[in-house]
Formats: sequence, C-alpha cells, structure tokens
Amino acid sequence: METIRIPIIAGDGTGEDIWNASREIFEEAVLRSTGNTKRIEWIPVIAGLKALEHKDLLLPPETVDAITECSLALKGPLTTPVGGGFRSVNVYLRQMFDLYVCMRPVRWFRGLPSPLKKPEAVDIVIFRENTEDLYRGIEWQAGSDDARIVISFLKDKMGVDLRPDSGVGIKPISRTGTQRFARWSMDAAIRMGRRVITIVHKGNIMKYTEGGFREWAYETAAGYDELSAEALPGKIEVNDRIADNMFMQVISRPADYDVLLCPNLNGDYLSDACAALIGGLGVAPGANFGDNVAIFEPTHGSAPKYAGKDMVNPTSFILSGAMLFDHIGLAGTGDMIRRGVERTIQEGIVTYDLARQLDGARPVSCSGFGSEVIKRLHA
Ligand code: NAD
Repeated sequence: METIRIPIIAGDGTGEDIWNASREIFEEAVLRSTGNTKRIEWIPVIAGLKALEHKDLLLPPETVDAITECSLALKGPLTTPVGGGFRSVNVYLRQMFDLYVCMRPVRWFRGLPSPLKKPEAVDIVIFRENTEDLYRGIEWQAGSDDARIVISFLKDKMGVDLRPDSGVGIKPISRTGTQRFARWSMDAAIRMGRRVITIVHKGNIMKYTEGGFREWAYETAAGYDELSAEALPGKIEVNDRIADNMFMQVISRPADYDVLLCPNLNGDYLSDACAALIGGLGVAPGANFGDNVAIFEPTHGSAPKYAGKDMVNPTSFILSGAMLFDHIGLAGTGDMIRRGVERTIQEGIVTYDLARQLDGARPVSCSGFGSEVIKRLHA
C-alpha cells in the first residue's frame, strides 16, 4: 500500500477540536476512494503558541523541515496576539515558503443557510495575493525611535508632514509580486473552466499600489489568448471593480462574479464577507500556494472562546483537506469528502453555528459532525 505523508499543524484554540473531528474522515476517504491502495501517514508538527511553550520558538526547524520535505501541510488556525506580542505565524509561514497565492472557494450548496434570496448564485473563487501589501507587517509604533526617524525622513526628504505621535505602516505592492500572482491565478481559473475574472482594487485612492495592482494584472491578462477584456465566445472575460463597490456587488449580484483577484488586505476582508453568504466562517476552506509548497487551512481563526468544547464547525477544515487531496492528484478523494459533507448538511445535521440559522436542523457536536460525514463517505 502506498503511503502519503502529510505534516499536520493542528493549531491553537479550537484547532484540536476540528482536527480530532476530521482526521478519520481523511483516512477513510483515502482508503475508500483509492480501493485500499493508499493510506495517510500524518506527521504531527507544531507552530505558534504551542511551539513557543514547548520549544521556545514560534516555528521550530522540525516543522519547517517536514513541510519542505513533503512540499505541503494541513494546518489548523494559529492565534496571534492583537496590538503587541509576536507577529502572525500564519503570515510568517506564507513568507517563509513564499506562498504567494491564497485561494478561497466560496460555494453555496443545498442545506447551507444564507442571508441571500438566491444563494445558489454564489460560486466564487477568491484569489488573494499573499506576500505583499500592508500584510508585510512593515510598521513602526507611535512614539518609537524608528517611527520618529521615518516621520522626520518623510518631512525632510519628501515634504510630507505627519503628526509626531503617528504609528506608521508601509504598503508595498510590486509589479513582480502582482504578476506572478496574477499568472498563477489566471492559469488556475482557466484550468477550472471559469468564465469571468474580476480584478478588485482601490486604485482610485491608492493609485500607485492598488492602481498598480490593477494595471499589472491587466498586463498579465493581455499575455493570454484565452482571456479578453469583453465577454467573447469561448473566452474568459477580465474586468475590474473598485473594492468598496465589490463588497456591495458580491451581496447584491453574486451571479455576476466568478473569480476575484485581490490584493492581500482586500482579499482578507472579502473572504470573510463572502463566507457569510454561505453559512459563515465555519464552512469556507482555503489554501496557500507557492512554487514549491502548498499549505491548506480553514479561513477562520482559533475562536479561543470555544476551545476544547467540541462545538465549532469542522467543515472549513474538512473542505481544506479536500483541496489538499485535489492538489496531490487525488481528486476522487476530494470529491468523496465534499459529497460526504454536502449529504450531511443537506440532511440538516449541522453544528451550532449553522443550526441557529436553520429551521428544523439537528444540531450535533464538532466530533459528532465528523462521525456523520464518515457514514456518508461513499461514491
Ligand atoms: P475567529 O475566526 O477565530 O473567530 C471569530 C468568530 O467566528 C468566532 O467567535 C466564532 O463565532 C466564529 N467561528 C470561527 N471559526 C468557527 C468555526 N469553525 N465554527 C463555528 N464558528 C466559528 O476570529 P478572531 O476571533 O478574530 O481571531 C481569533 C484568533 O485567531 C486571533 O488570534 C487571530 O489572529 C487568529 N486567526 C488565525 C487565522 C489563521 O490561523 N489562518 C485566521 C484568522 C484569525
């Protein structure tokens, strides 16, 4: 029997709950979908808070080595302190492995709650640039020596007058970063048979960063025969929307949107907003891709107030695992998992977050949901 080695970072807060509920689903789906010719060997590794407690390091070398060796990982959420403390290990992982594309499919299926009248129109793939923008974390605390140096530089050299008690951040968006991201995402959109690609930006205000993003993404599109600026038969239309309008349009006209190409921060906000259209953060999966490594993780965070209560929804994590199997060429496994989740939810068997939005649902625990999905893992 062939062994598939997968490093797993269960994560903080509710990370252990969702991992415990999902592990057997992945193992069973691989066995069943491959006719018992493949099995998973998990490589448990740690990062973030747990690594800090046990190893005095946020990202131990064993974790980095396992991910490098396997070229992938499945990851639960990691806690990041707000305001002070350490920087986000999620961001650090993305930068370390140069995971420059974050992909978040947002698709409604029957049984999911939605605030929309016609939720079946929601089938959108969000691609978010993952390494640049304000997310680079280049910022200086108000009142620090570094902030004072930057503020004086801006005043002396650039004629920009800022209040001396300002915190200051830098928003870098490059042609190189945008175009490698746009190329990867457009290739993926073509492979997936998508019909419309929308570049999302705030280029009317941030002309040289988000405006640059728009211009460079269009330049990339111009290099493809398959893409066009208008809807032409057999071609994928490429258009653009200003970010604030985009937030309104995904709610008011979701059927018009198919693939969204976003700079890092807009993509972050839009992913959560779109997740709300299909039942919330507990449902929407995600993956981060670079040229050598891919890390699959739910859209949500560690929801610490629910940690250890066996309550939260493991669907986002389970569907992120399904994306991992698609990525390693086991699309049959990914499909089996997705069908198992859909059947369970369609029968009204859901965790508390969905149950409170649905009439007549049968609420189950996090682990209970996992067990119900296993019963529905068949062709
Ligand atoms: P969060 O996503 O953890 O939780 C926000 C709310 O969403 C929760 O209170 C809960 O009501 C709901 N929710 C989240 N996951 C759910 C699930 N699986 N099932 C049901 N409901 C769910 O966001 P937050 O409270 O802003 O952040 C908590 C911590 O997570 C922070 O430290 C933050 O930095 C971190 N975070 C990590 C990641 C990541 O690891 N990729 C992403 C976002 C936030």
